[in-house]
Amino acid sequence: MVIAIDGPAGSGKSTIARLLAERLKLPKGKSFTYINSGNLYRAICLGCLRAGISPVDPVKALEFAKNASIEYRNKSVFLGGEDVTALLHTDEIDQHTAPLSAIVPIRHVVNDIIRKIAADCDAVVEGRDMTTVVFPDAKYRFYLDASADARAMRRKSQGVSQLGLEEIKEAILKRDEIDRNKTEGSLKIAPGVDYMDTSDLTIDQVYAKLEGKIQL
Ligand code: C5P
Repeated sequence: MVIAIDGPAGSGKSTIARLLAERLKLPKGKSFTYINSGNLYRAICLGCLRAGISPVDPVKALEFAKNASIEYRNKSVFLGGEDVTALLHTDEIDQHTAPLSAIVPIRHVVNDIIRKIAADCDAVVEGRDMTTVVFPDAKYRFYLDASADARAMRRKSQGVSQLGLEEIKEAILKRDEIDRNKTEGSLKIAPGVDYMDTSDLTIDQVYAKLEGKIQL
C-alpha cells in the first residue's frame, strides 16, 4: 500500500508522513517505510555542491545524480555510504535544491529510486509530485497546504535557518514559484486528492484527521 502526500515547503507533510509511518500498523504487525523525496533531491544537491558542480548545470548535475550512490536506510539518506540526513536542511541546500529539481532527467533518477524502494514495501511517500506523477494510483493521496506566514513560522521554529522571518517567507515563496512551474512534476492539487489547509491546526490535529481517513 502507498500513502502519498504532497504539499509546499513547510506544510507539515514531512512530520505527518513520518508519524504515519511510525504509528500505523498493517495487518500482521507490518510497518510502513517512510520516504521523503525532497531529501533525495537535497542529497544530490549537497553532492553537487561538494564536488564543485553547479546544481543548475543540467549535464554535470545529471551525471552526478546518475553515478552517485544514494540510499534510503531507516529514514536516513546515505550519499556514497555517508549518512548526510543532518546536513540537508541548511539555507544553502534549501536555496539550490528547487532549481536542481527542475532538471527533468534528475527527476527521473529520483523517481526510479523511490519506485524501487516502494516496490518491496508499504510506503508513506511525500514530496511535490507523489500524488500526481510518481504514485497517481496510490490508495490514499493527500495534499497538505498552509499559508506562507504559517509555513515561515514553522521553518523559523525549527531553529535551523539563519534567516529572519521575512527572509524565510520570501525564500519559501520563491521556492513555491519554482515548484509550481516545473516542466515535469510541478506542485499541484491533483483531481481526487484529499486537500487540507493546516495553517491553524497543530500536528496532532492534522495527524488525527489523516489517520481517521486511512483504513488498513
Ligand atoms: O520537501 P522539501 O522541501 O524538503 O524538498 C526540497 C525541494 O526539492 C523542494 O523545494 C522542491 O523543489 C524539490 N522537490 C521536488 N519534488 C519532490 C520533492 C521535493 O521537486 N517530490
